[in-house]
Amino acid sequence: MLSNSLVELDRAHWVHPVASYRGHEKAGVRVLRSAKGATVTDSAGHQMVDGFAGLWCVNAGYGQESIVEAAAAQMRELPYATGYFGLGSEPAIRLAAALAERAPGDLNHVFFTLGGSDAVDSTVRFIRYYQQARGKPEKDQFISVEQGYHGSSTVGAGLTALPAFHAGFGVPFDWQHKIPSHYAYRNPVGGDAGAIIAASLDALRSKVEALGGPERVAAFYCEPIQGSGGVLVPPPGWLKAMREACRAMDILFVADEVITGFGRTGPLFMCEEEDIVPDLMTTAKGLTSGYVPMGAVFLSDAVYGTIADSAGAAAIGHGYTYSAHPVSAAVGLEVLRLYEGGLLENGRRAGARLMAGLEALRDHPLVGDVRGRGMLAAVELVTDKARKTPLPATAEPARRIFDRAWDNGLIIRAFANGVIGYAPPLCCTEAEIDAIVERTRRTLDQTL
Ligand code: PLP
Repeated sequence: MLSNSLVELDRAHWVHPVASYRGHEKAGVRVLRSAKGATVTDSAGHQMVDGFAGLWCVNAGYGQESIVEAAAAQMRELPYATGYFGLGSEPAIRLAAALAERAPGDLNHVFFTLGGSDAVDSTVRFIRYYQQARGKPEKDQFISVEQGYHGSSTVGAGLTALPAFHAGFGVPFDWQHKIPSHYAYRNPVGGDAGAIIAASLDALRSKVEALGGPERVAAFYCEPIQGSGGVLVPPPGWLKAMREACRAMDILFVADEVITGFGRTGPLFMCEEEDIVPDLMTTAKGLTSGYVPMGAVFLSDAVYGTIADSAGAAAIGHGYTYSAHPVSAAVGLEVLRLYEGGLLENGRRAGARLMAGLEALRDHPLVGDVRGRGMLAAVELVTDKARKTPLPATAEPARRIFDRAWDNGLIIRAFANGVIGYAPPLCCTEAEIDAIVERTRRTLDQTL
C-alpha cells in the first residue's frame, strides 16, 4: 500500500510536467510501482494494460531484460563519455551509423539530444546556422501547423500550437507562424483528401507570401501524424505534397517523428512509408523505448555539409553534456536490435488488430470518429454524432474518462477535447489489444 506520506511529499514538493498544479494537489498522485510487457501495476497492486506506452514511448514494452543488461554493461564499462574535445564512445558511434543506415534518403548525419524538445530546439539552431552559412540570413521565419506539438522548451513551445503551451509563457515568437491543420473530421473544407491537401498547400503558399515570399522563410515543421493535437492523421499524399511544395520554394522541410518514429505506425520511420525524405528529422521516445532519455536529430548531407564547410576549423557552438550519452546509446542499439528481431513485425500485426477493434466502436453513441495508423490511434467522443458536438472543452470529462478506464484496468490518454489517445507497446499480445478495446467500450458505457 502507498503510504499517505508519499502522497503528501509529492503534493508538497514535486512540480509535475503539464499538470494543473492545484488540481493535482487536490487529486493526489497515483504511484506506479512496476511493469512487465504491456502491464503496469500501481502501488495498490491494481494492474492495467498500458494503452499509451507511458507517454507514447515504451515501444518495446516494460521489463525487457536485454535492454536492462545493455544499460548495466555499459554503466560498468564506461558510464559517461563526452562527444566534446574530439572524443566519443563506441555505442554512440555505432548507433549514429546504424540510424543513418536506416534513415530515409541522405539523412546521414545524427546529432544526439536528451529528448524531443531539445531535438526540436537543435533543428532551429541548425537551420538558422545553415541559412546564414549559405548567405541567406533573411530566411529566418518558421512555419508549423495548428494542433501541432513540438515540445515545451521555449523555442519548441512556440512551434507547438496548443494553447496551454503558449498562455502566460510569452510564446510564440514573432518569427513563428502557423497554418491550419489537415484535421479531417473537423476540416472546414470537408473530409475529402484532395480538398484537404489543396487547402493545406494554399495555406502554406499564402503564409509564405504574407511573410514576404520564400526568401524570408527558413523551414516548415510538421508531424507525420499530429500526436498531442489528438492523433490527427493526414490524408494519403498530404506529406508528399507539402514536402514537394517546400522543395519548390527552397524551404527546409522538417519531419518531427518523435512519436511516429521507431515502429509506432509500422515501419521504423513513417517518412519511409510515405516515400518522402525530409531535410531534417527529429526523433526521441521509441529511440530508447523510454528506458533512458535520448533524442536524435537527422541532418541531410546538404544541410550538414553546408554547416560544416562554412564553419571550417571553428567550433559550432551547439551541444549538451549528455549528447550521445553512452548508456542511452547502448540502450538505443539494443532497442533497435529488438525492433528488427520481431517487435516491428508484432507491432504491425497488433496495430491492425487495434485499428479493427477501435473501428468496431463506431457503433457506440459517444464515438464520433476513429482514426490512426498502426499502434497510434484515437477515438473522438461527441455528444451528438450528426452535429459532431464536442464534449465540453474542460479537464473534467477527460479526467472522469481517464479515471474510469483506470478502474477498468486500462491506461489511455484522455485529451481535454474528448479525444482518447492510444499508443500501446509494440509487444502487445492479441489478448492485450482485445482488452484495450473491450475496456474502452466498458468505459464509454459508464460515461453515457
Ligand atoms: N515533438 C513531438 C512530435 C512530440 O510528440 C514530443 C513529445 O511528446 C516532443 C517533440 C517533445 O519531446 P520531449 O517530451 O521528449 O521533450
